[in-house]
Amino acid sequence: MKDETILVSSGRHPEDNYGIVNPPVYHASTVVFPTLAAWRKRDPLKTVTYGRAGTPTTHALQEAVAAIEGGVHALACSSGLGAITTALLAFVKSGDHILCTDSAYFPTRNYCQKVLARFGVETTYYDPLIGGNIAGLIRPNTKVVYTECPGSLTFDMQDIPAISAAAHARGVIVMNDNTWATGLYFKSFEKGVDVSVHAGTKYIVGHSDAMLGMIVTTKEAFPAIWESFRLSGQCAGPDDMYLGLRGFRTMSARLVQHQQRALTLANWLKQQPEVTRVLYPALPDHPGHAIWKRDFRGASGLFSVVLDRAYDDTALGALLDGLELFGMGASWGGYESLVLPAEPSNLRTATKWDDPGTVLRFHVGLEHSDDQIADLDAGFSRLRKAARA
Ligand SMILES: *Cc1c(COP(=O)(O)O)cnc(C)c1O
Repeated sequence: MKDETILVSSGRHPEDNYGIVNPPVYHASTVVFPTLAAWRKRDPLKTVTYGRAGTPTTHALQEAVAAIEGGVHALACSSGLGAITTALLAFVKSGDHILCTDSAYFPTRNYCQKVLARFGVETTYYDPLIGGNIAGLIRPNTKVVYTECPGSLTFDMQDIPAISAAAHARGVIVMNDNTWATGLYFKSFEKGVDVSVHAGTKYIVGHSDAMLGMIVTTKEAFPAIWESFRLSGQCAGPDDMYLGLRGFRTMSARLVQHQQRALTLANWLKQQPEVTRVLYPALPDHPGHAIWKRDFRGASGLFSVVLDRAYDDTALGALLDGLELFGMGASWGGYESLVLPAEPSNLRTATKWDDPGTVLRFHVGLEHSDDQIADLDAGFSRLRKAARA
C-alpha cells in the first residue's frame, strides 16, 4: 500500500468497536480477568492486561506508527523526551559509551550529561556531518550512535546510511530522532536505523494540544526497548494517544501543505536583505540538499534563518512582538505558525557555530502563504526601523 493509504488505514479495527471509525478513549488502570487460566495466560503485547501496559487505543496507535515508518514494533511514551531517554537506557550500562550528534535536541544532550554521566555512561559528541568517519570514534564500549536528521535547530543533514554502515560493522545500535521528517518522509529502517524516536507531540498530534512520544524499532532491537519501556513505567495518557491517532490520519494532507508553505516562505525570506542564510534542506542551495534528496521523501515545515548580525532585543522585539500569525513558543508541528530566536553556539561542543548573526527558527503553519508573508513583511519593516533608530 502507498503511504497515504497506510496513514488512513493502519491500526484501524472498526469491527472490534461496533463499526465506529475511531477507537474510543479507554480510561483504564485495572483490567479484570474472568478466570485464573486467563490471568495466567495474560500477554501485555497481545491483549489488554493493565492500564500502564496499554489499551486498544495504544495498540492501534502503535501499530499505525510502526507501519508508516516500516518498523516492526512501536511503543507510545509520555513525551518525546520520554521516548528518547527510555530508548537510550535500553542499551547502556555503567562503563558504556554513546556517540551523540552535536546537533541533537538540547534536552537529549542534557540527559546524557546530567543523568547518564552519573551512572558512568560517557557521551562523546560528534560533527553531524561526519558520515562514515564515525568509525574512527567508535570504541570497544560504544553501544549507541545517536543521530538526529536534520538537527532541529541548525538543520545539518546527516548521512544516516553511511553512519549506520560504520556502526553496524562494529555491532553498534543506531538511534535516530525522526521528529522532523516523521515516518512519512524518512523511512528510518530502510536507511539502517535500528531505533527511531519521535516527539509525537509535533506532527503526529499536529494540533499543539497533547504530549506524546513514540519509539519505533526493528524486530532485533525490540526486546531491549520493551524491557526498558516496561520497567521504567512509561505510558502515554489515553486522551493524548487518541489525539495522536486522530492527528496521524491527516498527516499526509498536513505535511504536503506545511512543505509547500515552508518552501514559499523560505524563498521569500531569502530575498530579505537581513537574511544571509536559510537553513532548509529542501532548498537546492542548502549544503545538505543532496542527502535530503537521496534519503527523504519530503520536507516538513520547520527551518531556521540566519540574520546578517546579532540584533539586540529591542530590534528583535520589534520584529517578533508585533507578529499576528507567528506565535512565540516552544514545540512545533501544529497547524499554526511559530517563530523563536535560537542560540546554537551555546549548544555545541564538538563543532563551532561561529556565525554571529541572530538565528530565528520558524515553524510554518497552514495559514495562507500570502498572509504569512504579509505578517513577516511588516515584522521586517519594524526591524529595519528599530535597527536604524
Ligand atoms: C520537541 C522535540 C522533542 C521532545 O518532545 P516532547 O514531546 O516535547 O518531549 C524531541 N526531539 C525533537 C527534535 C523535538 O523537536
